[in-house]
Amino acid sequence: MAVTQLSLPSLDRIASGKVRDLFALPNDPDRLLFVASDRLSAFDVVMKNGIPNKGAILTLTSAHWFRVLAERVPGLRTHFISLDVPAGVVTADEAAALRNRTMQVRRLQVLKIEAIVRGYLTGSAWKEYQAKGTVHGLAMPAGMRLSQKFPEAIYTPSTKADLGAHDENIHPDDAWKELGDKETARQVQELSLKIYNAAASYAEERGIIIADTKFEFAKDAEGNIYLVDEVLTPDSSRFWPKESYEVGKEADSFDKQFIRNWLIREGLKGKEDVVVPDDICAVTEERYKDAFCKLTGKKFEDAIAN
Ligand code: ATP
Ligand code: MG
Repeated sequence: MAVTQLSLPSLDRIASGKVRDLFALPNDPDRLLFVASDRLSAFDVVMKNGIPNKGAILTLTSAHWFRVLAERVPGLRTHFISLDVPAGVVTADEAAALRNRTMQVRRLQVLKIEAIVRGYLTGSAWKEYQAKGTVHGLAMPAGMRLSQKFPEAIYTPSTKADLGAHDENIHPDDAWKELGDKETARQVQELSLKIYNAAASYAEERGIIIADTKFEFAKDAEGNIYLVDEVLTPDSSRFWPKESYEVGKEADSFDKQFIRNWLIREGLKGKEDVVVPDDICAVTEERYKDAFCKLTGKKFEDAIAN
């Protein structure tokens, strides 16, 4: 059964996003409990039902990446502290509900930018390119085809809209207006590209192309920048199987694209209260698990047993 709402009366909920809920930890104001539900959102709308195991898949995938990136991107700071359910602050039932879907993270001030990096031409970037030859206002080589790899990965941020509103693509040179200063904007851009390039080569060795992805960053009181939120999951990224990749063709994917395509086919894009049929949920769950297994080298069922 998918869990769309967790009941955790022992903890104070401080924020709820489309997929995650953030809880304060008593006695530790510097930490948060970052809890992933099984909720599914697409086109900025949350579906009525969820995908079984999705919260655990997202959490364990993110935790895996935090460890990989700590090795591959020297000096990178991340909000990840541990996967442990904090001892002594929740009941046994709550601890069981939280298992595998929660991370203890550093509590930080999240920056108002969606730090998107694109390695391949698809999605809204493909639409803009066809209309204007640009991507987020950046000039791109002529004659590019759908799903083609960019000569090098590009940083293409968008605004971070409040719940219910849509993010807007912006030119990277305008990101500082969202962030308040040019030095922060420069660091976020540089980090985003470094992390993407490290992750893309790691994933490619394991048969997955990371076509694009979205990072979030935050600052501590001293102004240091941290990678936060979920990272490099099938929710925040387009993952394509390398074996069936072809330029000029819409790629098969391990990610939410399958649900997006179903919503479009059914005329349900952007509609509220959509119930996703069981067979579509089951395929999505399998794809998410498949991506987890390819990236981590572990079967999901074995990973949650530990
Ligand atoms: P958003 O567009 O803000 O991500 P969302 O609906 O996608 O909204 P979720 O991803 O479900 O939100 O929830 C995660 C929320 O937690 C996000 O608002 C994210 O910015 C915030 N967040 C992530 N890491 C931290 C952190 N270390 N400290 C404080 N807030 C965080
Ligand atoms: Mg989010």
